[in-house]
Amino acid sequence: MKDETKYIHAGYEPGNGDPRQLPIVQSTTYTYDSSDAIAAVFDEPTHALIYSRFANPTVMAVENKVAALEGGVAAMATSSGQAATVMSILNLCSAGDSFVSSSEVYGGTVNLFSVTLKKLGIEVIYVDPDAPEEELAAAFKDNTKAMFGETIANPSMAVLDIEKFARVAHAAGVPLIVDSTFATPVLCKPIEFGADIVIHSTSKYMDGHAVQVGGMIVDAGNFDYTNGKFPDFTEPDQSYHGVVYTKDYAVAPNIIKTRMQLQRDFGAYPSAQSAFVLNLSLESLDVRMKRHCENAQKVAEFLEGHDAVNEVRYPGLESFTYHELAKKYLRGGYSGVVCIDVGDRDKGTRFMDALKLVARQVHVADARSCVLHPASTTHRQLTDEELLAAGITPGLVRISVGLENVDDIIEDIAQALEQL
Ligand SMILES: *Cc1c(COP(=O)(O)O)cnc(C)c1O
Repeated sequence: MKDETKYIHAGYEPGNGDPRQLPIVQSTTYTYDSSDAIAAVFDEPTHALIYSRFANPTVMAVENKVAALEGGVAAMATSSGQAATVMSILNLCSAGDSFVSSSEVYGGTVNLFSVTLKKLGIEVIYVDPDAPEEELAAAFKDNTKAMFGETIANPSMAVLDIEKFARVAHAAGVPLIVDSTFATPVLCKPIEFGADIVIHSTSKYMDGHAVQVGGMIVDAGNFDYTNGKFPDFTEPDQSYHGVVYTKDYAVAPNIIKTRMQLQRDFGAYPSAQSAFVLNLSLESLDVRMKRHCENAQKVAEFLEGHDAVNEVRYPGLESFTYHELAKKYLRGGYSGVVCIDVGDRDKGTRFMDALKLVARQVHVADARSCVLHPASTTHRQLTDEELLAAGITPGLVRISVGLENVDDIIEDIAQALEQL
């Protein structure tokens, strides 16, 4: 199947007389004919269903669709993007371990890495993603178990050199995790460039209608966990009658271990109803994403020439530092988020307040255009100096360009800028 077809058909193949649309299996559990039949399920938990805290047929259909779209061997859904991020790390790192992360990552991810994982005894080592390979390699320690980056960083819009990160990670014997939320598989498939694990906040473009929060982890299936650094993958798991993930589940050891240990123990699994809605949204992702990109490109080009705008950050602009990397890694468009700098804190809030069509909301990637001014909202407790240290200028406004007619979006932005 070509990609456009996979968005519609992958993950669910109805048999004779089955429902045309993915059925919602809204059940916590599954019944068996005998105690022997149940025992067999516990012996081979990936072959049959036990409990919807970690596996459900509706959710699994969507997992299989996303795995097919990313070119991975298996995927596991989570109830938020944050849950996907934390599980992707905890599946590789325990107390006393460290991992290397690009410093250009989502604010919620920074908090998770710097505060919460630190409390669990896991150290994050931040690197400048644009640093040369030797400098990146020098950041690794003996206890480093993973490398992490974002395809298009939220909100700096920096584009990751995925091949460079993959080379450095693999030379150090650790897998590369890529958060590809802003790109989606429509624009980039990180596995083709060497990523081993791809994660998503499906709350963004994959959902695309501001309906529900969710996440996804995809396993490329080709990282070798038998290199001595990952005993949890190669030694018997006593909590699962001695399963050895690299032997018993050699095709997708990462995702099977995440599901059998972390999803079982933490239970951050979406409901069947949520998976159904996500599947419906995924059916149109390819079409929607192209329109988001087209509209955002036009908005970025309009803003680039505007007197009231100091800087426009958009991967589709030739003037943007990351344009060359964007051309290499993104195909058919540059995503739907455009960041601008309108001067200072006061102008940022005045611009936001003057908008009529474009909504003020703490979200991106909705079908409806929306904006956020970090200095007066998500980062309002920070001084201008602290903001700059976090890579955010006081006048930075993040515009998520929606699916409306682009002339209406530009007209609204233009009248708001006039008022500055
Ligand atoms: C929103 C977001 C997350 C967190 O996802 P939630 O679904 O909100 O938990 C992670 N990474 C990126 C890049 C995001 O934009």
